[in-house]
Amino acid sequence: MVILKPMRWWFALLAATSWAESYSIEPQRPVQGQVLKVFAPPQAGSARLNGKTIRLFPHSDGRSLGLMPIGVLTKPGRYTLEWLDGTGGPVHQEAITIADAHFKKQNVTLSKALLKLHATPDEREAIAAFLKNVSAVRYWQEPFVAPVAGCITSPFGVTRLHNGRPTGDYHAGLDQRGAFGSPVHAVAGGIVRIAQPFELRGGTVALDHGQGLASIYLHLSRFAVKPGDEVKPGDVIGYVGSSGRSTGPHLHWTLYANGDPVNPLQWISLKPCPVQTPKRRAPRVSP
Ligand SMILES: [Zn+2]
Repeated sequence: MVILKPMRWWFALLAATSWAESYSIEPQRPVQGQVLKVFAPPQAGSARLNGKTIRLFPHSDGRSLGLMPIGVLTKPGRYTLEWLDGTGGPVHQEAITIADAHFKKQNVTLSKALLKLHATPDEREAIAAFLKNVSAVRYWQEPFVAPVAGCITSPFGVTRLHNGRPTGDYHAGLDQRGAFGSPVHAVAGGIVRIAQPFELRGGTVALDHGQGLASIYLHLSRFAVKPGDEVKPGDVIGYVGSSGRSTGPHLHWTLYANGDPVNPLQWISLKPCPVQTPKRRAPRVSP
């Protein structure tokens, strides 16, 4: 009994400390385009940052976890991150600083035929519905798998110009080198939500990894899955192509956290292709 008393006091202190620590973020200093992992005690229902609210889900360590996207266009600076309870009332808040990613500009030369391609209303609707959906079941686990092994021909987040003219948009995914017909792998486990040819995006596979994480693969030449299929990490979902608005066979893929594009290089390590010299062929990319 003599020993138990101080032990009880020690456990109480430990419980209080871990309770305070259960509100946490990762990374501590997020950069534009990254995912901010938001941890909380189990009773927190959601989190809000800069007008965006995300759901939190039970995590393996007993806390809850949500994936807050830091938008590419979010101004660097100080923000308040709020944790909310089940009724939307704030239960905790912390000041966070978002750092500048210093995204560069990239010009893409497109033919008249490629410039004319636009998403049909059906394509726009299917993509919007896919990005709005947040499934409660979690299929994703780290580490993620690279969908193809090729180097990066166009990085995430660059401000895009078409034939020298600003588009007002940025590159929402990664373009990776890949030979026509080579297999494309699922970056994580998930459910196939879309597997169909689109006007602008070409052959498209969209995967729902659950709890706010999703990925999409464009310009495919063939599909290896159909909507409703469950895939495991690394499963072949389709084959590299150049369908839709694409300047040659390559893979464009985008990772989404709660509907916003985020930088896959936070999760997967991939190398940029060697710098192009004027004599070499233009890189195969997609807007
Ligand atoms: Zn692209």
